[in-house]
Amino acid sequence: MREPFDLNQLVSPLLEWFSSHARVLPWREQPTPYRVWVSEIMLQQTRVEAVKPYFNRFMDRLPDIASLAECPEDVLLKLWEGLGYYNRVRNLKEAAQTVIAEHGGELPADYEKLLKLKGIGHYTAGAVASIAYGIPVPAVDGNVLRVISRVTGDDADIMKASVRTAMEHDLAEVIPEGQAGAFNQALMELGACVCVPNGAPLCDQCPWNNMCRAKAQGRIDELPVKSKAKARRIEKRTVFLIRDEEKVLLRKRPEQGLLAGLYELPNTLGHLSPEQVEAYVKELGLSPLRILPLEPAKHIFSHIEWQMIGYAIRIDETVEHPEDMLFVSVEDTEKNYPIPAAFSRYAVYLNLHLGIGEEEKNPLNM
Ligand code: SF4
Repeated sequence: MREPFDLNQLVSPLLEWFSSHARVLPWREQPTPYRVWVSEIMLQQTRVEAVKPYFNRFMDRLPDIASLAECPEDVLLKLWEGLGYYNRVRNLKEAAQTVIAEHGGELPADYEKLLKLKGIGHYTAGAVASIAYGIPVPAVDGNVLRVISRVTGDDADIMKASVRTAMEHDLAEVIPEGQAGAFNQALMELGACVCVPNGAPLCDQCPWNNMCRAKAQGRIDELPVKSKAKARRIEKRTVFLIRDEEKVLLRKRPEQGLLAGLYELPNTLGHLSPEQVEAYVKELGLSPLRILPLEPAKHIFSHIEWQMIGYAIRIDETVEHPEDMLFVSVEDTEKNYPIPAAFSRYAVYLNLHLGIGEEEKNPLNM
């Protein structure tokens, strides 16, 4: 709960600050509905700097809704490789197909209709409607929840849907005429760059410095109030980097569930000893020549944490491979087989570069 706070007083200083501090971002250059939509989906759970190269490549390859709607799944997943949360891109494609079938190929300039598209929630519908179409609706993400909670001194739990809805309602009342897109982007920008999520906020650079309740009351560390999410389930896994002279062994994941439809380095539950690994590999019908333990690695998903150990396994040249797996050259894997970033620690040992980012050198030569 908070004492009454007139949100109108926030608008002018915020817009003035944004007009001189807005970052130059690729999707801001031509804020078409399609570009805004794709960028907002990519930015969910992902840092701006990481998104930039993905966004540019995605737009080069799939410049419009029609090309997205027709894109084969493996190509689409490959474009998303390394960004994680792959359902985002599957939903993008499904929504693109709906837009072609039901909206004449244009994203609807209507908040409620946008909300009905697969993968578009209140925040994304608000962002597309306001930024691309100038429709006066709010777009409340984690950044906005944080800055508004702080400036108004509100200690309501921002994990509650009712709190988000109330904030959307309050902000809708003060969106300045003709500036919905700038207002929403300015709020997000302030949260991303000044009233930051980790570490101390840069209050001396904040346009609300002299009206912020959290600051005046010395409660910045307490706000926003955020109830803890459920603890993640820990899964121990052993990852196998199995290769012969030229090819590596890959396995396609099931069509449902975690990392659905992506390819992976074969792995199994539990932490296996070298002897157990040898038995496992032989059971696959392969002949291991050398088995080398690799360092442990960790990957965090939203509800699960993988604690992995790995083995690099050199096998005799093979013609046969286990039924549900395939042998692919590293080059072909890099081009055509989307592999989740969970395996990136081990992929370097195969000289396999996943996603977009800095390449690491293979510390082994096997
Ligand atoms: Fe955040 Fe500080 Fe600005 Fe308050 S004054 S909104 S705490 S950056």
